[in-house]
Amino acid sequence: MAVHPKYIFKVDEIYTKSATDNTEINNDSASNLKWSKGYKTFKSKIRKHLKLEQNGRCAFCRCRVSVGTSWSNLEHLISKTDYPQFKFTPENLVYCCIKCNMSKVKQNIIFEPQEDKSQQTFPLNSDDFIIVNPYFDDFEAHLDFIDDVIIVVVNDSPKGRETIRLYKLYRPELAEERASQFQLNQKTINEQLLARLTDSSIDQDTENQINAVIEQIPSWTL
Ligand SMILES: [Zn+2]
Repeated sequence: MAVHPKYIFKVDEIYTKSATDNTEINNDSASNLKWSKGYKTFKSKIRKHLKLEQNGRCAFCRCRVSVGTSWSNLEHLISKTDYPQFKFTPENLVYCCIKCNMSKVKQNIIFEPQEDKSQQTFPLNSDDFIIVNPYFDDFEAHLDFIDDVIIVVVNDSPKGRETIRLYKLYRPELAEERASQFQLNQKTINEQLLARLTDSSIDQDTENQINAVIEQIPSWTL
């Protein structure tokens, strides 16, 4: 197993809010605008910044976000509903695909969060997060792929496991997307995955994922 180099990236440079961003944020907040309705310039600028930092790929599933067929999203790592104080914190935003964004919704990702959410300060270390955080963590230290399409946890990493669970990275359509983006042959993938099933060292989660993908492969040609 090896992580394809294209799946490996981190957000190295944190976006810096400009005076214009702050003015817009203040004005739109004063007008009580929803995240989806306002903050247009700020959102567009940070999205562009993150898209470059993340090589146009989703922070979680690591697939290239296909702007032609879906909207690219800005995801709040820490829920903006539960923690409005981090709504405009650049380190709380990542570029991601719509499916990963919709999978997590507002579930918690903070390790030992404060009981009073309004008292929570923004966590600044890798250990403060229960998921693979693209600002702090090396993806490949926690997650890997079988045949470039099936995601698995590395070294029993709890962060890797939580990332798969919260963002539903086991969804079989992701395997199809990966195969398509790497131009893999579906017959070869099918044969490789069938062979993996005879390997007694794979765990139950991986076996379930492989079976779900094999079941879906016939529809890839539609
Ligand atoms: Zn994704």
